[in-house]
Amino acid sequence: QLEELMKSMGNIDWSRACSIDEGIAALSAGNFDLVFLDYILPDGTGLDFMKRAIAENLDVPVIAITGQADSMVASELIKAGAYDYLSKDKLNAAALHRIMTNSMEMSGLRQEVVEAQKKMAEMSTTDGLTGLNNRRFFNECLERECSRALRYNIDLVLCMVDLDHFKTINDSHGHVAGDAVLAEIGQLLHHSFRQADIACRYGGEEFAVILPNTTSDKAHLVCERFRRTVAAQKFHHQGIDMNITVSAGLVALQKLDNCNAEELLRVADQALYDAKAQGRNRVVQL
Ligand code: GH3
Ligand code: MG
Ligand code: MG
Repeated sequence: QLEELMKSMGNIDWSRACSIDEGIAALSAGNFDLVFLDYILPDGTGLDFMKRAIAENLDVPVIAITGQADSMVASELIKAGAYDYLSKDKLNAAALHRIMTNSMEMSGLRQEVVEAQKKMAEMSTTDGLTGLNNRRFFNECLERECSRALRYNIDLVLCMVDLDHFKTINDSHGHVAGDAVLAEIGQLLHHSFRQADIACRYGGEEFAVILPNTTSDKAHLVCERFRRTVAAQKFHHQGIDMNITVSAGLVALQKLDNCNAEELLRVADQALYDAKAQGRNRVVQL
């Protein structure tokens, strides 16, 4: 019946799959805009199909084809992600046309929302967990600040911070507790440095602070104060108390032989590595 109706609608390429396996294989291989799904299938039910399609990220709109008294089935399938349903006894060209147009339109809108969200995430300069600037922002900013410091001959310091033995925190108390610590460290960083300093989450449990107009010694003092603040702080999460320490490495752009952003990052990393090697919970200035 569907075949006849679609023929009358013209210009529709379609193919038929006779089991869940066949359907999933066809969707994975082909480029489909719409699926009509029966409920009783040789290797499972329509619900099983929905679960597999979702698990395999096959994001094609599904219209369930249901029997006469199957409103429960229809609502189950819609809960499971089907866009709409069509009752077998109400198959006619007008109903089919309406439901196909609506489902494809809805699917197009969903796609647009997903793409817009992706774009917003790409454009975002903020780290979701800590509220600090993210790595993308850091990279742009470091280049810009380096050029500015060189052109106008002003001081610039880069400080890299890494939490000590943070893996143990996750292993002992779980990732959620670990994330809570990272968020709190973000707050402490934000409050420990000046407004003009640029605090970023560099990645995982590493942070970077760009300090324009700051000498190496002054930066050392500020980092040292931050290190002590963290060491003295009691971190709590759901009744658990945690002690955290950080290591930091810093270097001034003017001290480098090769004055560029890449080199500044490399030497600041080296300073951080030295702080770890010297026993952690310390600031090393190169
Ligand atoms: P070290 O003192 O040498 O830095 O030891 P470490 O355990 O902190 O260092 P390592 O680089 O070996 O491990 C970092 C750990 O940080 C690994 C991972 O469990 C944890 N981590 C990284 N990113 C996140 C995150 O976003 N959330 C949580 N909860 N943990 C993270
Ligand atoms: Mg670490
Ligand atoms: Mg690390």
